[in-house]
Amino acid sequence: MSFTSLGLTPPLLRAIAEQGFELPSPIQAQSIPAALRGEDVLACAQTGSGKTAAYALPLMQALLSQPAQKPPRRTQALVLVPTRELAIQVGEFLRTLADCVALPPRVALLFGGVSINPQLMGLRGGADIVVATPGRLLDVIEHNALSLGQVQTLVLDEADRLLDLGFAEELARVLALLPAQRQQLLFSATFAPAVQELAQRLLKPDALRITPQNPADGPALDIAQ
Ligand code: AMP
Repeated sequence: MSFTSLGLTPPLLRAIAEQGFELPSPIQAQSIPAALRGEDVLACAQTGSGKTAAYALPLMQALLSQPAQKPPRRTQALVLVPTRELAIQVGEFLRTLADCVALPPRVALLFGGVSINPQLMGLRGGADIVVATPGRLLDVIEHNALSLGQVQTLVLDEADRLLDLGFAEELARVLALLPAQRQQLLFSATFAPAVQELAQRLLKPDALRITPQNPADGPALDIAQ
């Protein structure tokens, strides 16, 4: 299985080659084709499995298939993460992918623990993709600096930690601001009952479910090594 056979376009293939990725990890091989078809995905994926690229590549390809937006850019993809560290890591990867085209989509990062003002300033002109922790995202929306009314794809990264860290209520408020018609990609290190309940409530019944590694699929990828 190669990245080419997953349906990715040449600019993104070049971007991942520059990252030194040679072969897709199991989670990438399973989730990328389904996400590119616009399907919902529920994936049990640990850090180190390549989960970020598993959702970031299809998300970026969907954006790049549309004409580049002029300011103000409407936010078309929202990635919710539990921590600032993860927001920064995911944002860096998305920006690397975005830079593979001449008019890169804009990626905004929103997380708490720092002043909100630079983040509000950064949203002037809009952002195609927002990577955010739920609490700061709601603060920014209360400042009228962002609308979620045009979001087409929602990613929940580390959904189990989002729930463990007590973001359930904020998450519900964010979900209420999104269009009903949207694609959803939910990644979680565990399938705890709370995550299953969330997935049951959110995802379309025909969502692709990628369960923990089957040993027959080969070793769970430790690509970082
Ligand atoms: P993640 O699970 O998304 O946190 O990714 C873990 C690490 O694996 C990151 O440093 C990625 O850059 C790297 N990575 C992701 N996909 C691949 C791949 N297909 N081949 C090699 N490295 C990868």
